[in-house]
Amino acid sequence: MIRSINPATLELNGEVKETDLEDLNEIFKNSRKAQKIWAKLPLNIRARKIIKVNEVISKQFDEISLLISKEVGKPPSEAFINEVYGVVDSTFQYYISVEEILGKEVEVPLGFYESLNKRSILLYKPLGVICVIGPYNYPFAIPFQQIIQSIMAGNSVIFKPSSDTVLVGQKIQEIFDNIDIPENIVQTVYGDGSKIGNSLIDKADKIIFTGSTSTGKKIMQRAAQTLTEVTLELGGKSAMIVFPDADIERAVLAARWGVFTNSGQVCASVKRLYLHSDIYETFLTKLVQLTKELKQGIPTEANVDIGAIVNEEQLNYVDKMVKIGVDEGAKILTGGQRNPNFTGYFYEPTILADVTNDMKVVQEEIFGPVLVVLKFAEENEVIDMVNNNQYGLTSSVWTKNVEFGQKIAEEINTGTVMINEVVYTFALSPTPWGGTKNSGIGRSHGKLGFYEVVRPLHVNFDQSEGPDLWWLPYDNDYQNIVENFKIIAKSLVIKDLDELY
Ligand code: NAD
Repeated sequence: MIRSINPATLELNGEVKETDLEDLNEIFKNSRKAQKIWAKLPLNIRARKIIKVNEVISKQFDEISLLISKEVGKPPSEAFINEVYGVVDSTFQYYISVEEILGKEVEVPLGFYESLNKRSILLYKPLGVICVIGPYNYPFAIPFQQIIQSIMAGNSVIFKPSSDTVLVGQKIQEIFDNIDIPENIVQTVYGDGSKIGNSLIDKADKIIFTGSTSTGKKIMQRAAQTLTEVTLELGGKSAMIVFPDADIERAVLAARWGVFTNSGQVCASVKRLYLHSDIYETFLTKLVQLTKELKQGIPTEANVDIGAIVNEEQLNYVDKMVKIGVDEGAKILTGGQRNPNFTGYFYEPTILADVTNDMKVVQEEIFGPVLVVLKFAEENEVIDMVNNNQYGLTSSVWTKNVEFGQKIAEEINTGTVMINEVVYTFALSPTPWGGTKNSGIGRSHGKLGFYEVVRPLHVNFDQSEGPDLWWLPYDNDYQNIVENFKIIAKSLVIKDLDELY
């Protein structure tokens, strides 16, 4: 059995039976059978059936939010805003956009070949069985949106939640069981990723993985054996850059939320803060003061801002990283230790200053409530510091001059750059989500997310009579045709490029 423990109280939330490896063949067989039937339904009918999840979810907003809170350690209100609301909104967005994105035949212009009665269209067909492997930190919102996109496109899904959040996984399954889609279109399996993972990768047509970079690399390595497609949504070390002309009051509040929401266990949370030297002291003084005002506590109690860390291993890792930072010369401005007032896994909101860009605490993902703060003077200097990192998920630029903000954004190598915002674009489901470098491969959400769960099918038509000009035999007529092709090819040499545009 897999035990679900409340990280704030250490109480047992419940247990779920681990999936037997021997059962996987049957699970995949059923998934493939269901997918074939499902894919035959018109896209708009599939979408109409799927949108019903919003009705099912709306009857249990509080129950779902509480369950997330009990497994992850975040306040239920935060779980609602950042996860449950996000799912309902994205399902609606996908419902209204899927036909436009995937449902239309796209005519491909063929130029000269059109004069030979040829035509091409592009269609989008489902991939088959997609395996969604989820992380613990947003156990509802992340896999749910990936499942919705996959099944709307006509795939079936086998979903494996994190072992820390099996009850939320079970809840997701229950929601799909309560809408009118064929049995086995969504199936949930439970187990330690290192035991069950390879079998899933070997049998699936695609893996959509969200989790740490080290696990993502293992998955890609395994998937190479079968050339199974992968979308990898991995770790991050997002930077927030504040220029002197920014709205400092808003920026300080954004930094506080962006660092500490979900106890810093957010792939896109603000993990590095780069402050211009002109505002460094005032900004930091205010941020430290506001951080000290945060109420850490049992997340289900009233007015708690910051809850627990998911498990003891992660808590110890956070503590170890802070100690490494201090050994390297970092100064703790607030926090810096496990919160002694709780038996659960609480780490105090922590800010580290006097760090340099090459330190481990600046370079590596800590995945806890820990911020590192750096100073810069020149824009090129800060761009170099931000880009000099293995991760490339998100970043933010703070300035009232949005044109200048965009100029900086275009120099930064991350999947998303926010101007005067932090973290939240995961909630904007029409926009692409994903990173560069060690933050992953591919995109989820929006149009690009839909394209990741389909195979493009190019269909080419010909309605001419008789053979094509280039077919055998290569006789004298053929030599004349070759000469004519040379004339056509010469007409394609553009001497004055300006004429073309
Ligand atoms: P993790 O890598 O430990 O686990 C993620 C999932 O992978 C779990 O379901 C786990 O059981 C499974 N798994 C583990 N080993 C496996 C294997 N060999 N084969 C297949 N599956 C395996 O990650 P986590 O601790 O749950 O999540 C935290 C990490 O996820 C952080 O690095 C965070 O930045 C990242 N994350 C990224 C995004 C994003 O969108 N880029 C979103 C959320 C979290």
